[in-house]
Amino acid sequence: MTSGEGVTVWFTGLSGSGKTTISRELEQALLERKFKVELLDGDIIRTNLSKGLGFSKEDRDINIHRIGFVANLLSRNGVIAITAAISPYRNVRDRVRASIKNFVEIYVNAPLEVCESRDVKGMYAKARAGEIKGFTGIDDPYEPPLNAEVVCYTDRETVSESVAKSIAKLEELGYI
Ligand code: ADP
Repeated sequence: MTSGEGVTVWFTGLSGSGKTTISRELEQALLERKFKVELLDGDIIRTNLSKGLGFSKEDRDINIHRIGFVANLLSRNGVIAITAAISPYRNVRDRVRASIKNFVEIYVNAPLEVCESRDVKGMYAKARAGEIKGFTGIDDPYEPPLNAEVVCYTDRETVSESVAKSIAKLEELGYI
């Protein structure tokens, strides 16, 4: 039995952990099931809504609050809002959670070594070389969720398995 309400599905995890990959597959699966879905990908937000913001603690917090603000507008109007930003700080994620009625957190959990070996955008190499300062996992903290509704272990699960787990949780909670 679905609630017919929207929900914010909040992915968090290190760069290269798999947030974009899993969130896109989840978006497709939900669209096929005829839900209204909007994917707020971290990189796309940073080139539009948060253009000009950097990676200081303050700017990261502003970025996450903006994503949370938009996700709330969408999900309170019946949309499944999926967000996929690193969102490294636990207290900011928890504040966003507290401000959104229907909120599901998905921790995309892969060891730093795995994310670094994938180095999807070549960012870890640059961070290790000191060309990028304050890179999450290297010289900036990542605070893992303590009570995420779903944890995807992308070093030992397939993308399909992670998507299936996410869908099963949304079903269990009555959102789809
Ligand atoms: P993020 O958005 O977290 O920075 P991406 O989704 O851009 O991460 O990159 C994750 C990379 O890891 C992709 O190249 C993807 O193909 C790969 N990958 C390997 N196994 C998995 C998995 N089980 N789940 C998600 N991504 C995976």
